[in-house]
Amino acid sequence: MKQKKDILIIGGGPIGIACALECKKRNLDYIVLEKGALTNSLFNYPLNMSFFSTSEKLEIDNIPFISNNPKPNRTEALEYYRRVATSNTLKINLYEEVVSITKSSDTFLVHSNKHDYSANKVIIATGFYDIPKLLDVPGENLPKVSHYYKEAHPYTLQNVIIVGASNSAVDAALEIWQKGGNVTMIVRGEAIGERVKYWVRPNIINRIKEGSITAYFNSEIKEINENEVIITSPDGIQKLSNDFVLALTGYQPNFSFIKNANISFTEDDRHLPIYNEDTMETNIEGLYLAGVICGGKETHKWFIENSRVHAERIADHIYQTL
Ligand SMILES: Cc1cc2nc3c(=O)[nH]c(=O)nc-3n(C[C@H](O)[C@H](O)[C@H](O)COP(=O)(O)OP(=O)(O)OC[C@H]3O[C@@H](n4cnc5c(N)ncnc54)[C@H](O)[C@@H]3O)c2cc1C
Repeated sequence: MKQKKDILIIGGGPIGIACALECKKRNLDYIVLEKGALTNSLFNYPLNMSFFSTSEKLEIDNIPFISNNPKPNRTEALEYYRRVATSNTLKINLYEEVVSITKSSDTFLVHSNKHDYSANKVIIATGFYDIPKLLDVPGENLPKVSHYYKEAHPYTLQNVIIVGASNSAVDAALEIWQKGGNVTMIVRGEAIGERVKYWVRPNIINRIKEGSITAYFNSEIKEINENEVIITSPDGIQKLSNDFVLALTGYQPNFSFIKNANISFTEDDRHLPIYNEDTMETNIEGLYLAGVICGGKETHKWFIENSRVHAERIADHIYQTL
């Protein structure tokens, strides 16, 4: 049987939770559908990561986030968002994936892997952490290749290739090197990324300079085999002995999911979804975008710190139009 809701929020990340809080404050009838665990993206982050934001910048609805560290870590963030969701008794269905959204006259029909819903308004806050940008080279699907990094221990005494030079790649490279892995970075550009945290960048540059970590710049992987990786570099094609590859080259939103909901995009490489910046409403009336998904392929543009305001904008607009 179809369940009826005024507002359906897709995604139980920090911003989906922020949207739920704003709906609750206005006594709106809402539900959050989350395909994994609560804050599933954060749950899947590296175990020892630290946020670049201070804890108060990660707060939602001004609920204090107390951290013992200058920058909070994954465990503290999970604790915070978990506590916010439970102490506010937010309505969240976990392990329920939304498969499609269609609009029929003024009503949205939302189909999940568990139920069918009808809703007057839908907020999409599905982030971008589920779909890695692929290298698109032979051997990428070998079991030794991963697009996610969790912890260093499996890589101790191993030859590990890390592809990329952004924050995720640099953090993984340093941690694995510190835990006794033999790290080689393959970097398409000519230097470590400019957006790498300013307090980490000198560390990786110096580790490369002193030879503790090897880096091939202006280089790309051509092929991954069982025991080696073939790269193109300014010195020509090279074969590197290898046990594991971590391809940390970024992630992207599920474009087919939002395109199937008929949301329009810019026609350039950035693939930016079209929405009203004051209300976050897309070209489809009653359908909103919130959080990092708003950046399309520009995944560095939005983060928790600057997108948490989306929740209030959306709830205000819905309150005025319901
Ligand atoms: C290592 C790392 C460090 C970071 N540090 C910071 C920082 O210091 N400060 C900061 O502001 N930001 C930081 N970010 C970015 C920040 O964590 C993300 O921007 C944040 O998670 C975005 O929140 P969101 O709710 O928009 O998306 P997400 O947290 O990605 O949440 C989206 C949710 O939607 C769910 N979902 C997806 N598709 C469906 C579907 N079809 N049906 C149901 N559910 C679905 C996903 O499972 C997920 O739980 C960091 C990111 C990384 C990777």
